[in-house]
Amino acid sequence: MKILSVVGARPNFMKVAPLHRVFLEHPSIKSKIVHTGQHYDVQLSDIFVRQLNLPQPDHCLNVGAGTPTQQMADIMLKFEGILHTEQPDWVLVVGDVTSTLACALVAVQLGVRVAHVEAGLRSGDRGMPEEINRILTDSIADLLFVTEQAGLDNLRREGVADGKVHFVGNVMIDSLVQYRQKANELDTLDSLGISSQSYVLVTMHRPANVDTESGLERLLQLVDDTAKYKTVLFPLHPRTRVKLKEFGLMQRLSAINNVQLLEPQGYLEFLNLMEHAAIVITDSGGVQEETTYLNVPCLTFRTSTERPVTVKLGTNQLLADLNPETVQQKVLEILDGQPKTGQVPPLWDGQTATRIAEILLRHP
Ligand code: UDP
Repeated sequence: MKILSVVGARPNFMKVAPLHRVFLEHPSIKSKIVHTGQHYDVQLSDIFVRQLNLPQPDHCLNVGAGTPTQQMADIMLKFEGILHTEQPDWVLVVGDVTSTLACALVAVQLGVRVAHVEAGLRSGDRGMPEEINRILTDSIADLLFVTEQAGLDNLRREGVADGKVHFVGNVMIDSLVQYRQKANELDTLDSLGISSQSYVLVTMHRPANVDTESGLERLLQLVDDTAKYKTVLFPLHPRTRVKLKEFGLMQRLSAINNVQLLEPQGYLEFLNLMEHAAIVITDSGGVQEETTYLNVPCLTFRTSTERPVTVKLGTNQLLADLNPETVQQKVLEILDGQPKTGQVPPLWDGQTATRIAEILLRHP
């Protein structure tokens, strides 16, 4: 059985790496990887291939910069050629990025079965490009692998046949379980001159927060308020950096006291930084899950989350009013010693890739 897995953007590598590793253990599976090049910066791509022990991809589509539509069209045209050459039994896509939907669509058009890992998540916010990617990918996939109960509920509500849907847990947590120890052996904190629990880690890159001047102003306010209590470490996503420059706000951000602006971090460095943070403030999907697993307080600066288990069981709190004052209040609560404690959601146990491989083997 030949499986072609797709990576394209930062959050894809940590999901495909454990799957590829488990696939290699099965003599009857031939596993190949296609990298679309949706994220092409070294810091958002190559470093993850290296740190997660992925082989060099079998195919690189090198789509590079462009609008989502340009990227989508380019990925589709190039991926079609790859499918003709490779003739896989399955195309495996993960998450909710442009590459996920683009490759799923091409596969379906050519009659190749599609497995979607991290299926069924819904924020309810159709203004998010990721929500559209999730809905469309799920509606055409043949197997849907789900991370949490809400995913099962959403797919059932949308009328997806039960036989296609499998609750397997969270493959991103497989990577975390595998690399946590290695990450903790790094000297990331020393090299930044900070100690455990002495800082708040911030990541932001969603269009709703960084694409408009008002969104960025809110973000600056949030960082300014937080830095009054703790050092703020802020690895800047390239999108966020570009937008800050475009709106002429970079200097104001750099001038805030007690803030360290960093390059996007490698996976291991970022795991280390999350593990030792007093609080993580984010708009990332994956970071909500990783902090839940690590039991680190997380404040999510978004109006909704597609990962409600992180709020229900985990350490995550949604700052749905997007009001920096609410952030300040929550930060103070946590620093005053009232952090929300959580528990690890069901099946987030490091064995998800194994479960997925077993199910795929039943559908040769
Ligand atoms: N991450 C990283 N370096 C960073 C920020 C995040 O390695 O500087 C990792 C993080 O641990 C998680 C993934 O990137 O595994 C999340 O990616 P991102 O926030 O870009 O995407 P999302 O999950 O929001 O789709």
